[in-house]
Amino acid sequence: MHQPSSEPRRSIYYDYQVHPPWLASQHGPQPRHRVVIAGGGPVGLTAALELARHGVPCVLLESELQVCEGSRAIVFTRRSMEILQQVGVAPRVMAHGLPWRFGNSYYRGQRVFRMEAPQDDNDRFWPMINLQQQFLEEFLVDACEAHPLIELRWGNRVNGLAQHDDHAVVEVDTPEGPYTLETEWLVASDGARSALRSLLDLKLEGASYEGQFVIADIRIDLPLPTERLAFFDPPWNPRNTVLMHREPLNIWRVDYQLPEGETPEQALAPESLRARINAQLEMIGHGGKPWEMDWCSVYSARTLTLPDYRAGRTLFMGDAAHLLPIFGVRGANTGFQDAQALGWRLGLVCSGQAPESLLVSYSQERVGAAREIIDEAGKSTRFMTPPSRGFRLLRDAVLSISLTEDFVRPLYHWRTSRPHEYTRSTLNSSDDDNALFQAGPAHGAPPANVRLGDDDFLLDHLGGGFDLLVFAACVPAGVQTTVQAWRDQGLKLRVLLIGQWIGQGVQAPGADVCLSDTEGRARARWGVTTEGSAYLLRPDQHVCARWMSLDADRLNAALKQATTGVAP
Ligand SMILES: Cc1cc2nc3c(=O)[nH]c(=O)nc-3n(C[C@H](O)[C@H](O)[C@H](O)COP(=O)(O)OP(=O)(O)OC[C@H]3O[C@@H](n4cnc5c(N)ncnc54)[C@H](O)[C@@H]3O)c2cc1C
Repeated sequence: MHQPSSEPRRSIYYDYQVHPPWLASQHGPQPRHRVVIAGGGPVGLTAALELARHGVPCVLLESELQVCEGSRAIVFTRRSMEILQQVGVAPRVMAHGLPWRFGNSYYRGQRVFRMEAPQDDNDRFWPMINLQQQFLEEFLVDACEAHPLIELRWGNRVNGLAQHDDHAVVEVDTPEGPYTLETEWLVASDGARSALRSLLDLKLEGASYEGQFVIADIRIDLPLPTERLAFFDPPWNPRNTVLMHREPLNIWRVDYQLPEGETPEQALAPESLRARINAQLEMIGHGGKPWEMDWCSVYSARTLTLPDYRAGRTLFMGDAAHLLPIFGVRGANTGFQDAQALGWRLGLVCSGQAPESLLVSYSQERVGAAREIIDEAGKSTRFMTPPSRGFRLLRDAVLSISLTEDFVRPLYHWRTSRPHEYTRSTLNSSDDDNALFQAGPAHGAPPANVRLGDDDFLLDHLGGGFDLLVFAACVPAGVQTTVQAWRDQGLKLRVLLIGQWIGQGVQAPGADVCLSDTEGRARARWGVTTEGSAYLLRPDQHVCARWMSLDADRLNAALKQATTGVAP
């Protein structure tokens, strides 16, 4: 019988709330569900909200009674914030998080590289924002619990699975014993040690790195800005690397590599932690300041992915699907994109508006994204923790040359997580003008945000389904007819007319929203040079078609392709 702990986890800055378990005996017979999600971490919670946004009810099974232990993911990217905006939790993250954009790398006491993440006046969100994962999960939990389409079942652990042609039977263990649940689709977001991956005997592919890091969160009052700090080969930890990050509430993350041959148990011994953290504080000029430990753990980098995220009726996402190094803040940030990519497709499949084959493109796109990230993150990981003598020689050469030579310094670049562009997606239109554009987001790219007013941005107006951005003074009559025909079939499709008119309240036939682009910012960012240009965005906001001049037939063809993956 599954007995999750009902003792609140210990933390010096976060009050854990223990939720009551969901017990089958207190509820009636279970119908066959549309979607069951296994795992209520950040990715499963976001997936539930995404599905709800697309009108699909789900049951979310979480084996624990409280949110995650320790801060875990603390850095969230701009793209993650744009996704969190869609599911309604971005304002709370902004209210509590610490935004930032600079990183500093030090070698032998000298700053050898200053990373500056691009920040444009057109972006609503900062490149990065720091917030402990417990808070993020809490905000997502609150949003899920408030949503009538989501049933969050605490203390419910998935233990068994039988798959059939059109449904799956899930065995769930709870504090009062097991019950079974039938579902048309099962989403596996049960984390790095995914039980579902094991039950289906699926193997991750890729590499695991030997270098191990202590991750320690301490409370200390340091008069330092929110910037990433990386120290290579520091005197107290020779040949190794140390990272520091500010978190909200005066918590600092200190990550340091274990000396070769040291075991995690040795590294986590209180006296070892105390001595090393003191040495680090001493090195940055804050030795002797009082500090208190909140949470510590040992971590090693892995670059692993399943080769296919669909196995029968089960769809994988987040850490259950891939394990990515924390260097470059990729785990949770990549998982949000999985959730967003699956949500709308499953929404269309469940409502009968798209064939099951649309889900093939989910796996293709997201496995492609994981492989690209693995490639990039592997480079960062090999720089942080050289896996062989050769890599160490090369890394050390870069370090020492960087003391005097500028040209090697960009090699320190952290290669921060960035959204994948689905350039070769089968959903991209085969018959549009993508190749004719000189600028703007191309096939498969995420959208470019644009400031339209003091607190008004283009992405604020997207959401809920496909978006057709028409850069013109009016929506052509034929296009209006096509849009209506798709809506009549149940597709959510909105038309945003972007023009040069001044002021609010403009209305135009066929447009759901008229946006004023008096300064031409939107046109510039989207590479629009001709009146009548248009973009079609999928519900996850990625571009699937763009035209220099839009006509009804080509719009129709693009929508068919984007909802089936087959060129008409
Ligand atoms: C020390 C550390 C630092 C990190 N820093 C960052 C960072 O800065 N940025 C970043 O993007 N990522 C970071 N990550 C990675 C990030 O924490 C993970 O990628 C993220 O939590 C993955 O989310 P998930 O929902 O896929 O899995 P998880 O967060 O692991 O959630 C899985 C959930 O499933 C539940 N579960 C497990 N088994 C079952 C079952 N059988 N049935 C039902 N429920 C089950 C678990 O209780 C858990 O709640 C870090 C990770 C660590 C460990």
